[in-house]
Amino acid sequence: MAKPVTITDVQTILTQPAGSRLIVVKILTSEPGLYGLGCATFTQRFHAVYTAIQKHLRPFLIGRDVDRIEELFQLAIVNSYWRNGPVLNNAISGMDMALWDIKGKRAGMPVYQLLGGKCREAAALYSHADGRTPEEVADNVRRLREQGYRYVRIQIGGYGGEAERLDRPEGAQPGAYYDPRDYVRRALKMIEYVRTTLGEEIELLHDIHERLRPIDAVGFARDVEPYKLFFLEDALAPEDNEWFRHIRQVCTTPIAMGELFNNPGEWLPLIEGRLIDFLRMHISQMGGITPARNVAAMANMYGIRTAWHGPGDVSPVGHAANLHLDVWAPNFGIQEWCRFNDLVYEMFPGTPEVRDGYMYPNDLPGLGIDIDEKLAAQYPCEDEIITWTQTRSPDGGPMRP
Ligand code: MG
Repeated sequence: MAKPVTITDVQTILTQPAGSRLIVVKILTSEPGLYGLGCATFTQRFHAVYTAIQKHLRPFLIGRDVDRIEELFQLAIVNSYWRNGPVLNNAISGMDMALWDIKGKRAGMPVYQLLGGKCREAAALYSHADGRTPEEVADNVRRLREQGYRYVRIQIGGYGGEAERLDRPEGAQPGAYYDPRDYVRRALKMIEYVRTTLGEEIELLHDIHERLRPIDAVGFARDVEPYKLFFLEDALAPEDNEWFRHIRQVCTTPIAMGELFNNPGEWLPLIEGRLIDFLRMHISQMGGITPARNVAAMANMYGIRTAWHGPGDVSPVGHAANLHLDVWAPNFGIQEWCRFNDLVYEMFPGTPEVRDGYMYPNDLPGLGIDIDEKLAAQYPCEDEIITWTQTRSPDGGPMRP
């Protein structure tokens, strides 16, 4: 038997070429020049992920056979005994994606071939349109449509909206304030305006971002039904999963859920109960390509499609992983896309190309993406106390972000 190719080093690259702090794992091997890249981006807690990789995962992996992805994933997920948290899952994702990248390079095939081959040539994308008024949102949708996007997520004034007035009590503490009831009224008016102004052909999406009380989210899903959303995202927080059945009972608005999920215990009941229509996990948050492939295959049997999380706090390596899953999965639904700047394309050669609302994979072996480490080093991650997640209701009480 041929001597196995083994892991000789695990490096963690931190960089911030745009707004988000990105974490990329590089696995080096005993074969000269052969390495793999994986995304481990958890932008709000990047130091914790860095330490988990370098101090815990690296010693665990050195000397292991690079070909045994499944075994290493299964071992890594329980090696800490306590498991299923965002820090460790992201670290494991960095390992998992890098090993798929290496396997593809060894086979001389793109990762989508290893998964079973293409079901489609490209992934249909949705992009984001925002605005302070319904008219501004509609203008921004038009602009995206001119660029070729057929699916657009529409928000008014960001997550939770921008309340016309906020009556805070005296001595109100600093924070990211919003008024959930005001948001419902303004968001529904905006969606109605965009739909009636732009017509039936454009596909519209909306993200509640878990900012409503569960009963208000059920009402929102029902009231938005006439405007035929492609999907309604994060209507509820993962902690309120039990409420999804109430949404199903009152409307047929398609439901997308999952960017905050870490744990199979969170997605299994929603799939089995046919309570959602799109899975939108953050692939690195759930542990990488291996668990995503398994969940996609399971969801396919339940008539549920994929819509993997694809914002700026997924590295281009993570977007490449999304894309390989997208072109393979028989039950692919849609892919979120954040429109990276030119610097990101320069730093990550092979960042997926987008034309007319579709994202195309290249045919390079593995994930088909690389990183210019010298350039990445010029954009170090900056420390910052995150303020947008310090969310408060009008009376100052803490709310979910
Ligand atoms: Mg979202």
